[in-house]
Amino acid sequence: MLSYLRMDTIFSKIISREVSADIVYEDDIALAFLDIAPVTEGHTLVIPKKWSRNFFDTDEATLQHLFLVAQKIARSLQTSLGAKGVNVQCNSEPEAGQTVFHFHIHLIPRFGDDALVLWPQGSYEKGRATELAQKIKAAIH
Ligand code: AMP
Repeated sequence: MLSYLRMDTIFSKIISREVSADIVYEDDIALAFLDIAPVTEGHTLVIPKKWSRNFFDTDEATLQHLFLVAQKIARSLQTSLGAKGVNVQCNSEPEAGQTVFHFHIHLIPRFGDDALVLWPQGSYEKGRATELAQKIKAAIH
């Protein structure tokens, strides 16, 4: 599928050090650095060194490793910056707000006094949730 062809993005250049970033963590598989346009102070991105487009196509071993790294960094945001909470988010595909097509996990530390509002929530008509759950369940493999 055309959309899954490898893409060189700004993140490849951060991995190769052609572009500088404020790196907070690195190992053989993962790199983490501060987002250049933070939602809150300390907003960090965790990325794989091996390219994948987003949450949909990242392999199991890489996902496992990245989420463990994300947890370590989230804990460090608590101890180093005094974060009271964290939002962990992977925007996947443009419809979900993805702008850089190299998989990344956003860690957005929350301090209790920030103005960030999460998405609005709705409700289901009678029977709709059951119908949707059956469709989703049938497609899981
Ligand atoms: P997304 O919109 O989920 O694809 O997130 C991409 C993120 O990458 C955005 O939050 C950008 O602010 C961030 N970003 C883009 N370029 C850089 C850069 N050179 N260094 C750090 N973060 C960046």
